[in-house]
Amino acid sequence: MSSTFRAGGERRYARFSTPNWEAFESAMGSLEGGEAVAFGSGMAAVTAALELVGGDATVAVSRRLYVGSSQAVDDFEARGRFRVVRFDRETDEAVATADAVLVEDPTNPGLERVELAAIIANAGGLVIVDNTVATPIGRRPLEEGADVVVHSATKQLAGHSDVLMGVVVVRSGDLAARLRQFRTLHGAVPGALESFLALRGLRTLALRVGRATATAVFLAERLSDHPAVADCVYPGIGALIALRLKGGVAAADAMIDRLRLWEHATSLGGVESTLERRARWAHESPDVSADLVRLSVGIESPEDLWTDLCSALGE
Ligand SMILES: *Cc1c(COP(=O)(O)O)cnc(C)c1O
Repeated sequence: MSSTFRAGGERRYARFSTPNWEAFESAMGSLEGGEAVAFGSGMAAVTAALELVGGDATVAVSRRLYVGSSQAVDDFEARGRFRVVRFDRETDEAVATADAVLVEDPTNPGLERVELAAIIANAGGLVIVDNTVATPIGRRPLEEGADVVVHSATKQLAGHSDVLMGVVVVRSGDLAARLRQFRTLHGAVPGALESFLALRGLRTLALRVGRATATAVFLAERLSDHPAVADCVYPGIGALIALRLKGGVAAADAMIDRLRLWEHATSLGGVESTLERRARWAHESPDVSADLVRLSVGIESPEDLWTDLCSALGE
């Protein structure tokens, strides 16, 4: 833990470089198959990736996007940094003509699938993929032809709900150098302790993702057959489930109140199972239905999680 380093050595000042960043970045680079640059939060990573576009640029973003990223691109546009266009389909003209495209698959929180291969084939500019929900265990977008991968490392990468961090991974050394320079100049650096904790999280990433994914599949199958459930979406990748109950918002809030093992909390990707009705946030996109509950499946006993859900659903 050091903010400065003795003069004359390999390192100078911790905003420029810190050993713990490099250890985390080396592991992330291997996981995603590229060069990783760590940031102080997922949003700092998304921002740094978007800052790769030049002046007078247009950025195309999927209409279904994590609300924080959606608000951030609107803020960039409001301040005149770049124009924003929203697209609905992979084949939309906007994808082909924009200087950069930002996309998630599956989307957070609706868990809709986007065909990444079609976006990559159609895109004329930089393809930026937010891979937070899938994790590099689920998919490696750089290998599929994306230019930039961003993560909220706060979620499954660090995995224990105790770290806020982000990371950008790129294929080209030139993009990595520009990202590092942006981080040094603008200062959205991760802490040394956070980097250490995130790296420790990566040591068990495959185990946690494997367990949480298997449990999510198990729970989604049972929930789909439950008489109180109107709609249960499991996107086939990751550890999130999007649930809607026949009783709507009131039934969702009642279920959340009655749960004892599942924690009512925002965020996702921790070892503990959490859930929330996303529309409780006033700033959530109006495209997200009021009764949608996003479940983030942890690594507890699958039967305990199911028993808790059943008793909360009143069956
Ligand atoms: C949480 C999240 C972010 C933002 O990450 P922070 O670490 O909260 O800044 C970005 N994208 C997705 C998909 C997320 O879930």
